[in-house]
Amino acid sequence: MTSFLYTSIQNIKYFGPAAIKKLLRLKIKTVGDLLYHFPFRYDDFSNFTPIATLEPNTQVTIRGTVVSVKNINIFKRRMTLTEAIIEDGAGDNIKSIWFNQPYLLDLFKAGRQVNLSGKVALNKKHLCLSNPAYEFVNKDPLHTGRLVPVYPETYGLTSRWLRLCVKPLLRFVDKIPDILPDELKKIYRLPGLNYALSQIHFPDTIEKSETAKRRFAFEELFILQLFMGMERLKVATKNAPMVNFDERAAKKFVASLSFDLTEDQKKSAWQIIQDMQKNQPMNRLLEGDVGSGKTIVAAMAAYLVALSGQQAAFMAPTEILSRQHYEKIWPLFNQFGFETGLMTSSEAKISGNAVPKKELIKKIEAGKIPVVIGTHSLIQKNVAFKNLALVVIDEQHRFGVNQRAKLLRQDNGLIPHLLSMSATPIPRTLGLTVWGDLDLSLIKKLPKGRKNIITKIVPPAKREWAYDFIKGEIKKGRQAFVICPLVEESEKLPVKAATKEYERLQKEIFPELKIGLLHGRLKPKEKEKIMAAFLNKEIDILAATSVVEVGIDIPNATVMIIEGADRFGLASLYQFRGRVGRGEHQSYCFLLTDSPSTATNERLRAIETAQSGFDLAEKDLELRGPGDFTGVRQSGLPDLAIASLTNLELVQETREAAKKILSESPSLKNYPLLAAKVAAFQSRIHFE
Ligand code: ADP
Ligand code: MG
Repeated sequence: MTSFLYTSIQNIKYFGPAAIKKLLRLKIKTVGDLLYHFPFRYDDFSNFTPIATLEPNTQVTIRGTVVSVKNINIFKRRMTLTEAIIEDGAGDNIKSIWFNQPYLLDLFKAGRQVNLSGKVALNKKHLCLSNPAYEFVNKDPLHTGRLVPVYPETYGLTSRWLRLCVKPLLRFVDKIPDILPDELKKIYRLPGLNYALSQIHFPDTIEKSETAKRRFAFEELFILQLFMGMERLKVATKNAPMVNFDERAAKKFVASLSFDLTEDQKKSAWQIIQDMQKNQPMNRLLEGDVGSGKTIVAAMAAYLVALSGQQAAFMAPTEILSRQHYEKIWPLFNQFGFETGLMTSSEAKISGNAVPKKELIKKIEAGKIPVVIGTHSLIQKNVAFKNLALVVIDEQHRFGVNQRAKLLRQDNGLIPHLLSMSATPIPRTLGLTVWGDLDLSLIKKLPKGRKNIITKIVPPAKREWAYDFIKGEIKKGRQAFVICPLVEESEKLPVKAATKEYERLQKEIFPELKIGLLHGRLKPKEKEKIMAAFLNKEIDILAATSVVEVGIDIPNATVMIIEGADRFGLASLYQFRGRVGRGEHQSYCFLLTDSPSTATNERLRAIETAQSGFDLAEKDLELRGPGDFTGVRQSGLPDLAIASLTNLELVQETREAAKKILSESPSLKNYPLLAAKVAAFQSRIHFE
């Protein structure tokens, strides 16, 4: 019965066409999908309460005999009311009512034994049960008289209905072979599949449901770890181009900079250099706070690649950011006689001059451009590097595994070294799982002389004060950002909201100042124009949606107001704030919030006091759960796996377990059940 989990529900006689259609709405196609559709909580209907002791507004389960039943038509309200009187063993009785289910009349035959679970209501001084769950007494109750599973009820599918779907399948679970090898179950004290499936759906006790849940959390993280482990093994069998290290030239490069590198920058650069000299592909993440100077470390690595006669691709998530990197980097390389290319979907440049895109591509393919900076149009099929040795991905949390995989396929046979950079620290648990086996370089200290950004939560009453503060700064010659509130995804109108905010600022608050508007719908050229105008101080205040989140450098901007700050994740807020405080002047960030909730304020206070993005990311994970980390929620990971990503112990155990299994059987040949599950997993996930 290997295939039972993968059996289509269409082949189960029990499910008619209507049921199949309903289940498909939940993306349930196979028996396995249904059995792995877990309840998210349980109602405890396990204890019967004597009718004599019922109290209003309590959840109860009673057991009794049907004394009488009738339907009442309420014509005015076009409603049918079914009324049954139930009497328990002690001879007490209670009325129970249901709305618009006239067929109940036929079920509630006098003399039948029934369990009812629900809330006790007080109706005209009499206690009654309103719309309770009912179940006629049998050996094996589903909806009453036990711990009753409650499922996520989407698309109008009720828990009652889902229970009826799941229950009959559980009779066959002892025929399903367990995918977890026995030795793992022993080491990590996990229950078997059959037991766990029964207990997660219809637990005998809450403790047993917890044990079952732990097993499935283990299973799902374990599959994820196996997947990551196998990917890793694939890469490990390939060679990387070795990069020559010329120490004297490296020193000359460092000496040419207008500042001294910090200790952390030096250390990171050194780690990268050592990796690149090997023929194993580097997979290193350079983590450093906003403004910590990651770009120059990556630029140095690219420079060494160029010196060694190879090529480097430097990718950023947006055109603006690519251009900003380009403008900084090309003159640096130019002084050493290297040409630097810029390639985005809208333009192509070589050493500062615009060129036809075709020409740039040709030169890249001929290996004449050692360093190319650009957006992901760099990894499109039509660009083939001659000898790509290094790929740098800036703001890596925005690039998914897929894009990375594309890049890695680029070079025939050889896999380039990969350096990713992020200011959003990846919490340790996520680093170990979703992003696999990364080596880390940390830049912990900012360059000398940076000032802290003064950050304050501003309640609605003080809004005017914040606006006056902006006016004062602008009078001093500074500039400001206003970050528009995040609108609910479902509204899909961030542009409209930003436009409204922009108009309000321009007409009502700052009529005498020049305001610009930046949002994601603008064409890249328009965005560039606005950013250029802001940089040239033709605009005093830039109202922007979250598109300013990454990278942009405007040293003269000293104030930022973040509207609806409570709607953003801490990591995003932290990134926004990093847009100010990039010059010599004292900078300020005001978090505007209308939310009086203390949880919100706790979150915002974390950023008020945070001096490092690292503490903050851990805090964010703790407060909001990993679902809010970019890419995780959309990844297609099972909910239970996502919820368990914060469980460091489980993450480590599953990682250990995956290593053990893969060391015995790297392609899972000895574990066909696991191999099938990993394949199913792979087809389902998509890291954005
Ligand atoms: P991030 O790490 O956020 O990408 P950047 O690389 O953009 O930061 O660096 C921010 C600014 O700091 C840049 O203007 C850069 O030239 C400057 N910078 C980098 N390293 C140093 C340093 N060691 N001393 C002083 N300024 C530096
Ligand atoms: Mg950067």
